[in-house]
Amino acid sequence: MATLVMPHKWPLTLPPLRIRVRSRYVCASMANAKPNNVRKEDIVIVGAGVAGLATALALQRVGIGSLVLEQAESLRTGGTSLTFFKNGWKVLDAIGVGSQLRTQFLEINGIVVKSEDGRELRSFKFEDEDQSSQEVRAVERRILLETLANQLPQNAISFSSKLKSIETSENDETMLKLEDDSQISAKIVIACDGIRSPVAKWMGFPDPRYVGHCALRGLGYYPNGQPFEPKVTYVYGRGVRAAYVPVSPTKWHINITNIPGRLLNSYQKTSDAGPKITDPSILRQETEKLVKNWPSELLDVIRSSPDDTLIRTPLVDRWLWPGISPPASTGKVVLVGDAWHPMTPNLGQGACCALEDAVVLAKKLAEAMKFGTSTVEDAFRSYGSERWPRIFPLTVRANLVGTILQLENSVVCSLRNNVIVPKLVRLGPMLEHTNFDFEPLHFDAV
Ligand SMILES: Cc1cc2nc3c(=O)[nH]c(=O)nc-3n(C[C@H](O)[C@H](O)[C@H](O)COP(=O)(O)OP(=O)(O)OC[C@H]3O[C@@H](n4cnc5c(N)ncnc54)[C@H](O)[C@@H]3O)c2cc1C
Repeated sequence: MATLVMPHKWPLTLPPLRIRVRSRYVCASMANAKPNNVRKEDIVIVGAGVAGLATALALQRVGIGSLVLEQAESLRTGGTSLTFFKNGWKVLDAIGVGSQLRTQFLEINGIVVKSEDGRELRSFKFEDEDQSSQEVRAVERRILLETLANQLPQNAISFSSKLKSIETSENDETMLKLEDDSQISAKIVIACDGIRSPVAKWMGFPDPRYVGHCALRGLGYYPNGQPFEPKVTYVYGRGVRAAYVPVSPTKWHINITNIPGRLLNSYQKTSDAGPKITDPSILRQETEKLVKNWPSELLDVIRSSPDDTLIRTPLVDRWLWPGISPPASTGKVVLVGDAWHPMTPNLGQGACCALEDAVVLAKKLAEAMKFGTSTVEDAFRSYGSERWPRIFPLTVRANLVGTILQLENSVVCSLRNNVIVPKLVRLGPMLEHTNFDFEPLHFDAV
């Protein structure tokens, strides 16, 4: 099979370019447009979320350029925050944005677990529990995406470019058809298009499965400084649980996970997530009802969250069963992040794993393209087989953790609050999965 030779136009090392992210880039690659409306690209990344931008940046670090297609008109600026553990920070450092982000977000030094009546069940300090120096910070999604995008060359992201369909062309390239009827012929496609990835669907993956819980998130804003300790607080109730997480000196993230019948004020268990609720006043009211007798700081964070940060998300995942699920790549098309392995947020690992994917993939693709040690197809297969043993167990574990914590049975909840959490839980083994090593992205190490 032919090895794709890297075009000379890509420099071996690119200095980070610091540019402002504008709401809309004019796509430079339009210059490559062919008269028949098909433009040619070497590497197209679909989706400018965490996975897409981190992959573009990791590729840039190994001297490989790409074009990122994003369906939205601009970077997603709404939403709340993502908690990154040391595996996430390691990747953010490797792609050159760790220190910039670190200065803006608080280091979280431990965890407090409470029952719904406010009783403290257990308190942990990371430094006591995790000898290999844990690092935990929650990062505002908006700032994360802007920071990643600011490192890419201008015109690297083509906004308002929604992928409509994908097919393999006769010349071993992939034809991407966009919503505006324009077409791109790409040598390599890296799909980072999230949980509803059209590329994953095209590769034969089933839709992600709804796990029966919804998460409501908000970002409390305290202009005069937030009053809480730098610890994550978990509050466990029956069928409802909450977490609030320090983000910055003025912001706190809140996450309430429940069985949706409760949020909708109907106590029926339902197998789907119910109607989509986006009206912030309804979300606020229903959530306040849900936790009205819980520790008062919870209500405080909800009330301090601006409307545009309140989001309710049905939680989904997809288990990558060996021998049953399609592989992560087909030819020169590969999946990264949620497009491949949507997982529930119970371990806070979805975006961390998307970052890990990005550096592993970039390294393997660089080896194939620069040194011809393997073909692109082999590089993608090797990425899939290296990442699968990491991803599959985490997806399953995240699901099980959510199922157990979401139980409503009063005996089980009492056992959890009075025996398991106070006496049996050890944080160190539970954070074992945040240990992750990868090869450096330097060229001379390739
Ligand atoms: C409630 C909740 C809390 C979470 N908390 C954490 C946490 O604390 N820590 C953590 O590590 N992870 C967390 N996660 C998981 C994390 O949000 C995801 O794993 C991560 O955002 C995945 O990034 P992604 O880039 O793969 O997908 P996305 O962020 O979904 O990005 C996909 C991008 O592709 C674009 N796109 C989609 N379709 C097309 C198309 N057809 N054409 C062009 N563009 C397209 C989208 O507009 C979007 O910009 C949480 C998830 C949830 C639901």
